[in-house]
Amino acid sequence: MTQRPFNFSAGPAVLPEEVLQTAAADMLNWQGSGMSVMEMSHRGAEFISIYEKAERDLRALLAVPANYQILFMQGGGIAENAIVPLNLSRGGAVDFVLTGSWTEKSYKEAGKYAKAHIAASGKDSGYTQIPAMASWQLSKDAAYLHICSNETIDGIEYQELPDLKALGASAQTELVIDCSSHIASRSIDWSRVGLAFAGAQKNLGPSGLTIVVVREDLIGRALDICPSAFNYELVAKNQSMYNTPPTWGIYIAGLVFDWILRQQEGGLQGLAAVEARNMRKAAKLYAYLDGSSFYSNKVAPQARSRMNVPFFLADESRNADFLAGAKARGLLQLKGHKSVGGMRASIYNAMPEQGVDALIAYLQEFEKTSA
Ligand code: PMP
Repeated sequence: MTQRPFNFSAGPAVLPEEVLQTAAADMLNWQGSGMSVMEMSHRGAEFISIYEKAERDLRALLAVPANYQILFMQGGGIAENAIVPLNLSRGGAVDFVLTGSWTEKSYKEAGKYAKAHIAASGKDSGYTQIPAMASWQLSKDAAYLHICSNETIDGIEYQELPDLKALGASAQTELVIDCSSHIASRSIDWSRVGLAFAGAQKNLGPSGLTIVVVREDLIGRALDICPSAFNYELVAKNQSMYNTPPTWGIYIAGLVFDWILRQQEGGLQGLAAVEARNMRKAAKLYAYLDGSSFYSNKVAPQARSRMNVPFFLADESRNADFLAGAKARGLLQLKGHKSVGGMRASIYNAMPEQGVDALIAYLQEFEKTSA
């Protein structure tokens, strides 16, 4: 196969080529079953084996402790903005730290089901930094504090999750993280997290699958109005098969988990290898942007995302030329989100380092022709 272009989409996003090839080879006849995975009953032995391996591999990969359930759901991150308060808030207080577009959305949606409160906001900084944790105004009785551990649009990432106990939060306040756009790109400190959710379409597979990892003692307190298909207790009791799960998404994500577990890098294996590669990819891209007066990234260095790198050209009238030239060189989907403008390079796990090198070479070339 000739080399595919490098796809910098924020999501749905690039997948490992090997995973796509396996899915293509399996398409008409999965492992001699005579069926495509899309055609299988979710209750049949074939699909159950796919599901069980995916669950086991994700647990291993993210080191999810035994007292946390992994749920494979539908609805994406936006549905979880409602599903989390429906399941965890008991209709009481819930706190939010606003760091960009996604936490703004989550906060607004939670207000329909709970008493949503802004503990801190980075809006005054134009969402270029995470408000200092010591300044967070936590409610005394919040059921949880919601953060977005990687803001996809604004390019902001927590390098360390907050330790709510150390911040003086009430013992009943759990940390909820929306980790949609950096799940499986780095490890998660589960001792600090009550619930994590993520849409699959950035680092894990196709859209339509949502991963929820929730500590068992938080399950079973849903509001009566919570739709059954979104009630974590029912979903957990039925091994994510209370309703028909997104079988194709689980299958592809399973192939991606397997791919991550097999990655190697300088003596590291699995997630550690992927994380090392992600750090190197991000470091070289930011270093180039910082060293150039033609491009800029406005996010405070300690809050910069390893996955989503928004940047601006000094001469914005050249944006269309920049994008056309990028496309001609096989560098796709670099246009920034409409709410922010400029450019954005999403460099998820499946973006090879050569893709970042090719982007940097193009940035250099375009800068020269613009001098
Ligand atoms: N949270 C984050 C951090 C996201 O990046 C996205 C999607 N870009 C969402 C939530 C919403 O996901 P969905 O559209 O799948 O509901």
